[in-house]
Amino acid sequence: MVNAITILGSTGSIGRQSAAAAGRLGIPVAALTTNRRIDLLEQQVRSLRPKLAAVYDEEAARAFRAAVADLDVRVVSGLPGLVEAAALPESDCVVTAVSGSVGLKPTLAAIEEKKRIALANKETLVCAGELVMRRARETGAEIVPVDSEHSAIFQCLAGRGEGELKKILLTASGGPFRGRPRAGLEDVTPAEAVAHPNWSMGAKISVDSATMMNKGLEFIEAMHLFSVTPDEIEVVIHPQSVIHSMVELVDGTVIAQLGVPDMGLPIQLALTWPERKGSPCGRLDFRTLRDLSFSAPDLENTPCLRLAMDCARAGGTAPCVMSAANEEAVHLFLAGRLGYNRIYDAAAGAVERVGAVQGADLETILAADAAARAYVRETFAK
Ligand code: MG
Repeated sequence: MVNAITILGSTGSIGRQSAAAAGRLGIPVAALTTNRRIDLLEQQVRSLRPKLAAVYDEEAARAFRAAVADLDVRVVSGLPGLVEAAALPESDCVVTAVSGSVGLKPTLAAIEEKKRIALANKETLVCAGELVMRRARETGAEIVPVDSEHSAIFQCLAGRGEGELKKILLTASGGPFRGRPRAGLEDVTPAEAVAHPNWSMGAKISVDSATMMNKGLEFIEAMHLFSVTPDEIEVVIHPQSVIHSMVELVDGTVIAQLGVPDMGLPIQLALTWPERKGSPCGRLDFRTLRDLSFSAPDLENTPCLRLAMDCARAGGTAPCVMSAANEEAVHLFLAGRLGYNRIYDAAAGAVERVGAVQGADLETILAADAAARAYVRETFAK
């Protein structure tokens, strides 16, 4: 088990559950960060007593500093604040639960300090997977995935030798619009798109689940985490979300990880791994469980998944451009400034327009990210 943790994005869905897990497991919390939900951050700081709190927004950071003036906590701000929290010597594990590519620099900072990364920010690996995994190998920093699918694959592969894996079977619920033709989704509202049938998650990832861009990002994330090629990953639609992913071994054996669809499980495991502890999450009841079903994805009606698989094959900065454009487009959609089906158009347009650079360094990656966002804002925002 880890000794003390830092939670980047502590007021989001994964961040709140990570804070709860730390409290339950008796793991001290060294630092917390948020973007602007300072009311909730104040509650967390008062109960968990971290040494450091980072608020991304400068103005909100000033207000927060005044609100917790009676406590022994240092308040920092901006991206440097996030990086400082990630590199804090007092913690040996960083939960990266921020949404979007803002997680990249702090994650790299934590890797340089050889901390365990409880990875919940998939954009980090999508944008800079080669760079991040290389630095993790070089420094010896351990990356334990929090995403339920990757946690499942990680568990299925634990202890297996090189050469045993044939392919990864990445499961997908299909989201709230599974089986509906894309043409009928033109007028989908943000409220409809965030209503996921199985999982309770933040707004951005919920929209990504509806478009299946989330599965595309997970596809790219899996390539980097488990050092496999796009041809070694198969997406399997499994609407019940009971199997959280599987691996097929060279002899044809398939190993699956099953459990209730509750993020509390992979979050806790990322903190206790390789140990396991009792958990407050529910348990599967095989007397009532029935009708587990499986099918191939419908790539015609989920073009975001197809685009992500194409970008995975293209490599270089293509996944970064796609992910940044998607992030920008989802924010515009949630703000009522972009139609639902235009999210794909924006991501595909950015890939077409911005192009891809191979073997990019961090600055080139960040420039590609910025160019994709600017393109979407200028071309698609209404
Ligand atoms: Mg997932």
